[in-house]
Amino acid sequence: MTSDTQSATDAALIRALAKRCSAAISESAFELTTLDQAIGDGDHGLNMNRGFLAIAEAAEDLAAAPFGAALQKAGTILVMKVGGASGPLYGSALMAMGKAAPVAPSTPQEAAAMLRAGFEAVKARGRSDVGAKTMLDALAPVLAALEAGGGAAEVRAAVAQGLEATREMRATKGRAAFLGERSIGHIDPGARSAQVLANVACDLAEGAS
Ligand code: ADP
Ligand code: MG
Repeated sequence: MTSDTQSATDAALIRALAKRCSAAISESAFELTTLDQAIGDGDHGLNMNRGFLAIAEAAEDLAAAPFGAALQKAGTILVMKVGGASGPLYGSALMAMGKAAPVAPSTPQEAAAMLRAGFEAVKARGRSDVGAKTMLDALAPVLAALEAGGGAAEVRAAVAQGLEATREMRATKGRAAFLGERSIGHIDPGARSAQVLANVACDLAEGAS
């Protein structure tokens, strides 16, 4: 593959990721906000929508960069545009993923290595880990599925299971932690937005148009 072909492929992928993530987040914004009203402050849909709209608006600029650099730029946009905890967390994740994957991953193991970097960045930035009822609980099963060589179907199942598992968890990080036991019985808004984004990645990996 020549470098010209490589960058043309990257550009199309980056454009598609930016636009589809933004569209999917926008479609889910009301739901994300409703989930955050139950155990947080009701701004998760608004926060995510603001950040991903800005990413969609920057799609052409992002598409001019190689894959990893585009992810890093998108992460910077989230950190700058989103006031809530989720902006710096998703922003750090994208920046770390872009550093870990200069070119787009083409195998589950390569995708796992990229996601692993993002996962560790969220843990570090959020001083958090699995079991605290956060986006990390949706992402951990995805990592395991990819590390085991799973494809889009396995990733969709894994993220759905990870999201559902947050329902019975007691939050120990983020605003939901203030509710203590009362956070039990609700799925985590950030875990749901992680599912929305993971499913877009699956759509693109499956080549859906
Ligand atoms: P805020 O909590 O500032 O209102 P959002 O509502 O946009 O920000 O995002 C809330 C989501 O962020 C939570 O549902 C959770 O998934 C995630 N989150 C919050 N704090 C942490 C943390 N310390 N580590 C990992 N994820 C976190
Ligand atoms: Mg909130």
